[in-house]
Amino acid sequence: MLRKLSNHELSDLIIQANHNAKTGKLPDYIPWLKNADFNSFALSILTLDGTLQTVGDSNRIFPLMSVIKPLVLLYILVHFGENFVRQRVGLESSALPFNSLAQLQADGGFPRNPMINSGAIALASLLPGSDGVSRCQTLCRWLNQQANCQLSLSEPVLRSVCSLPNPRNQAIVGELTTRGYLEAPEIALDTYNHVCCLSGTIVDLVRLGLLLVKGSEELSLKHCQMVSQVMKTCGLYEASKEFAHKVGLPTKSGVSGAVLSLVPEQGAIACYSPPLDPEGNSVAGLWLVEQLANK
Ligand code: GLN
Repeated sequence: MLRKLSNHELSDLIIQANHNAKTGKLPDYIPWLKNADFNSFALSILTLDGTLQTVGDSNRIFPLMSVIKPLVLLYILVHFGENFVRQRVGLESSALPFNSLAQLQADGGFPRNPMINSGAIALASLLPGSDGVSRCQTLCRWLNQQANCQLSLSEPVLRSVCSLPNPRNQAIVGELTTRGYLEAPEIALDTYNHVCCLSGTIVDLVRLGLLLVKGSEELSLKHCQMVSQVMKTCGLYEASKEFAHKVGLPTKSGVSGAVLSLVPEQGAIACYSPPLDPEGNSVAGLWLVEQLANK
């Protein structure tokens, strides 16, 4: 049962989590993330009845990076339906890293799932709008309205993402295009880069989690459950299977150190701590979710 933790329980957990975080590393392929505050930490727990518990850097705004992927999937599911999605991405887990070209090639150019870059780029290309800016705005407005949060595009993070070439994502886009699974590749990659730079606080993140747990007037629970299932099997890339077995909560991570976990029928847990493990998942974030799931 997701419950309110005592201050004592929380501070013990956070000390240990931050200790574990020291084994992690900041990613070096996006300068903004490389220069992030190694010790920054925030945790938020929100239950279905609206009880919100937040500790740490609650005002810090950070980019969601790949945590946006389940929300792109949600948007496309709600606006275009399940069949449309299934024709464009698989829902199978992958044993290779999130930006693996080998995986995409082995699958004949068909993205294996929406939680890895190939699938997320393919789905982001379907957002309505004529360019990355307008597509990102459409998604951002819709999410803010649905989840009652305040995401916004971080221009400095976007500039940083675009300041260095990302040959892996470029190769993924090339493969998707050659195989006929992507049109307008440049706009697709630009849209993907934009949506990864949507940013908010830990409370914004946990509210997005609650949306996935309980749906809304416009959002059927069936679509939310589908997203939740994909998060469970694919959300942590090659670490997904072990985490699902050990912890069992649908969870999505991003290279910024953001982690979002769903507690079905109960609430959501959001964590931010930048140091990452070798798979690109927040060390403290995953550790904390595991502890909370055991409590
Ligand atoms: N924009 C990042 C990338 O494509 C997101 C990856 C992630 O968060 N795992 O590399």
